[in-house]
Amino acid sequence: MQFVYDPLPYRVIFGPGSVRQVADELPKIGNRALVLSTPEQIDSARHLANSLGEKAVGIFSQAVMHVPVATVDAAAAKAKELDVDCTVAIGGGSTIGLAKALSLRLDLPSLVVPTTYAGSEVTPIWGMTEGGIKTTGRDKKVLPKIVVYDPDLTLSLPAEMSIASGLNAIAHAMEGLYAFDGNPIVSLMAEESIRALARSLPQIKADPTDAKARGDALYGCWLAGSVLGAASVALHHKLCHTLGGAFDMPHAQTHTAVLPHAIAYNAPAAPEAMERASRALGGGDPALKLYELASGLGAEMSLAKLGMPADGVARAAALAVANPYPNPRPITEEGIVQLLSRAVEGLPPVTI
Ligand code: NAD
Repeated sequence: MQFVYDPLPYRVIFGPGSVRQVADELPKIGNRALVLSTPEQIDSARHLANSLGEKAVGIFSQAVMHVPVATVDAAAAKAKELDVDCTVAIGGGSTIGLAKALSLRLDLPSLVVPTTYAGSEVTPIWGMTEGGIKTTGRDKKVLPKIVVYDPDLTLSLPAEMSIASGLNAIAHAMEGLYAFDGNPIVSLMAEESIRALARSLPQIKADPTDAKARGDALYGCWLAGSVLGAASVALHHKLCHTLGGAFDMPHAQTHTAVLPHAIAYNAPAAPEAMERASRALGGGDPALKLYELASGLGAEMSLAKLGMPADGVARAAALAVANPYPNPRPITEEGIVQLLSRAVEGLPPVTI
């Protein structure tokens, strides 16, 4: 066994009602907070700001998808004008992305209250867009200092978005199991993440107000985010990035349709990872189990139906083979053509 383990320093408060602990936690990072949210979540931001009393000196509620540089400029100007010493973000990956951009630019520490399953809160990955171009990077200074997970806040997340986002989280965990830079802790977190999500997502589909299932799913997504923050992604993510870029396909849905096939492709080269995944999914072939889980949740499994053009397979395979990410099984154009041909039609995965 040989590995490097480099833990990320963040504090987690988890549990129903824990948003009420933000006021007690905040003094650990600052005393003059700018509260961040999207326009849709302004009420949650106001509520949280009220609970912080004079420690909340302002609200910036213009967070939007993809963290545009112009939004960061506006938030940074407000942060300077109010002389804040930290941020408190309440929302999903877009709002947390804004907090990260402010950490990068102004060295402001953040406390975040995630309300989706994206997992960005526990990764050192930041992203910003300008003129349609997205720039991303890794920097430990953007990692939130404190994460307050309150599953009650996810009860309002629509079931469809919860499922898409939860399946996306499973993809992060699956690839962490065979990442070239993984380690035993990452594998433990990944296996437990898959177990918690595979158990809770069907329960959320059946009843989106199931508080226990919501807690389980958020727990699984915390672990999946931790895996994403600690280990690299491989073939599956390369394929999804390629398809997204080449054919403008929907992000979360593409992940769902591709994952079982990417896992089937990698299975022969990653037996230990498959053993863990199988255990987490209740036994059997993990690729097939993932396919059944996603279809059972009502996900579209055909890439063609998600918008991939009929002649896209060869093009995508050629792109995926160029500059591949490190992967347990060597990536061949022929292998990717076979994999994608089944995914285009929405067929169950097979290992060839
Ligand atoms: P989001 O933050 O864009 O939120 C989508 C919408 O849902 C927003 O209008 C938001 O206000 C609303 N919303 C959030 N929580 C809600 C709730 N509980 N109830 C009702 N509505 C709610 O969506 P997201 O999926 O969390 O984040 C996506 C973004 O995060 C992408 O830009 C992605 O690139 C980024 N991301 C980054 C990382 C990273 O490590 N840097 C990881 C994952 C995702």
